[in-house]
Amino acid sequence: EENGTGTVTVKAEGEAKTEDDDKDDKAAQSLLNKLIRNNLVNTNNQVEVLQRDPNSPLYSVKSFEELRLKPQLLQGVYNMGFNRPSKIQENALPMLLAEPPQNLIAQSQSGTGKTAAFVLAMLSRVDPANKWPQCLCVSPTYELALQTGKVIETMGKSYPEVKLIYGIRGNKLDRGTQLQEQIVIGTPGTVLDWCLKFKFIDPKKIRVFVLDEADVMIATQGHQDQSIRIQRMLPKNCQMLLFSATFEESVWNFAKRIVPDPNIIKLKREEETLDTIKQYYVNCNSKEEKFHALCNIYGAITIAQAMIFCHTRRTAGWLAGELSREGHQVALLSGEMQVEQRAAVIERFRDGKEKVLVTTNVCARGIDVEQVSVVINFDLPVDKDGNPDNETYLHRIGRTGRFGKRGLAINMVDSKSSMNIMNRIQEHFKKKIEKLDTDDLDEIE
Ligand code: ADP
Repeated sequence: EENGTGTVTVKAEGEAKTEDDDKDDKAAQSLLNKLIRNNLVNTNNQVEVLQRDPNSPLYSVKSFEELRLKPQLLQGVYNMGFNRPSKIQENALPMLLAEPPQNLIAQSQSGTGKTAAFVLAMLSRVDPANKWPQCLCVSPTYELALQTGKVIETMGKSYPEVKLIYGIRGNKLDRGTQLQEQIVIGTPGTVLDWCLKFKFIDPKKIRVFVLDEADVMIATQGHQDQSIRIQRMLPKNCQMLLFSATFEESVWNFAKRIVPDPNIIKLKREEETLDTIKQYYVNCNSKEEKFHALCNIYGAITIAQAMIFCHTRRTAGWLAGELSREGHQVALLSGEMQVEQRAAVIERFRDGKEKVLVTTNVCARGIDVEQVSVVINFDLPVDKDGNPDNETYLHRIGRTGRFGKRGLAINMVDSKSSMNIMNRIQEHFKKKIEKLDTDDLDEIE
């Protein structure tokens, strides 16, 4: 909250976070990204491949046709609207489909084609004549499992003999049931129960085991142990696959326990830089002044679409209200919204239905909205100790200037302490943030 002196004592969102909040946060972010993503992330980075046997030739494919998929599955790929493999799929698909099967650990950011790759692998390994579970896929939450399930259903549309069942809480089966479905997708707890307690699944007959979103998984208490217990019941020759968007030490340690003798594929995140971004700051004395400066900027330059970041829900709500009173079409993204609601807001914004998206710092973490040309920090990003959050600053602003576009970032300063934060951000990136005179705005266009 902002107090009388204008200093920020971070209290509203993002503070005193428990481990559970963190987990919800990660799972929610991941779900949000899936809900709003409708195509591949554009990346120029090279894939890094580490083969278990460094002497074996490295295969990569440039087309789906080269993979000699079953016709029903090639049709499935076409149904998805895919023309050629994504960067990571070029290397991952030959490994995933190789005989004898190979284990794989793959890391790349959300939206690079991991899910599509392992779904294709599961579908091609299934023998539809066998009416029992052969592929097991575990996801961190019910909602994430449903999303992956949808991909399996779409990709497998022309292959109706293959059936899928959701191993999630609430899906209650009669005792003694023997599953006929070839693919089970679920959360670790339920899947473990189905194998161990209820024996709906015979783990010895599983040929592909997928652990998705490993980084989200380990943030949840208990999931790690449950996953390892499932893995231990599987036969030695079962293909073990693990996917993750990030790769800290903890994820890596977990990955090694789930996947023995792995091939490893990594795709670096596109570097975000401030090189193509013009950065400005505006000096004000209150949030009302910041609002007026913002209106002046809007009056002076043509802004296709802007994202405005506020520190608290209250400021974001207030600002959105003021802006719409001024006649702007404003979308508001706020912490109390459900993930589905947030996705709908972002979708409308991406479709251009609103030109301004006002959001809190916490809410917009990790979301990629690429067409934004102007980012306004109505409040500068700070961490929970009130220090500048350089990483968030970079991520927020760095994406306005991607793929040859030139971006514009405007920071609103309203106190000594926020000026101090801005100066520290400037020092950190060693890039000048120019002062902007909002009564004379010719310079920025
Ligand atoms: P990840 O699992 O890494 O987040 P996804 O497999 O969900 O990535 O893919 C991200 C988006 O890109 C999805 O909308 C998916 O349908 C699409 N996609 C995946 N592979 C391809 C491809 N080869 N060509 C075109 N689109 C693809």
